[in-house]
Amino acid sequence: MPNQPGVPPPETIWRPASARLAEAGEQPSMLTMVRRGFMNRCPICNQGRVFRSFLGVVPECEACHAPLGVLRADDAPPYIVIFLAGHVLVPPIFWIERAYEPPMWLHMAVWLPLFAVVCTLLLRPVKGGVVGWMMRLGFADHDRPDERPPALSGTSRDD
Ligand SMILES: [Zn+2]
Repeated sequence: MPNQPGVPPPETIWRPASARLAEAGEQPSMLTMVRRGFMNRCPICNQGRVFRSFLGVVPECEACHAPLGVLRADDAPPYIVIFLAGHVLVPPIFWIERAYEPPMWLHMAVWLPLFAVVCTLLLRPVKGGVVGWMMRLGFADHDRPDERPPALSGTSRDD
């Protein structure tokens, strides 16, 4: 079938690495991609890094150019961290209160800093895991700027 004029053949159109790997049947499993993100490794190639700062995601993988920067984890990592830290730390709080009845200032002096440290340490790996999860679900394939509808802004209105 001849190509239409002005339309490049499909194999020459740029697509995310995840789409090419998925078509080739080589995309890693969900668990593998989440684990790679958790370990600050690119979910696709396991070579590049996910983060350029504590929580800042690189625009694209330095090794395979997967567009990790378009994956917006938003509130999911803090939600998961609070869920995990709460379920791990709250039962001991109740148990210690019941068994020893320490004064409230001691509860606050111990548990609040512990919550802060645990949540801070968990946030980055959990966000990396969420990035891997989103990459596996194909979020990077559908959230590229050139595929979004035109933005509605106040300056383009007729009124
Ligand atoms: Zn990569």
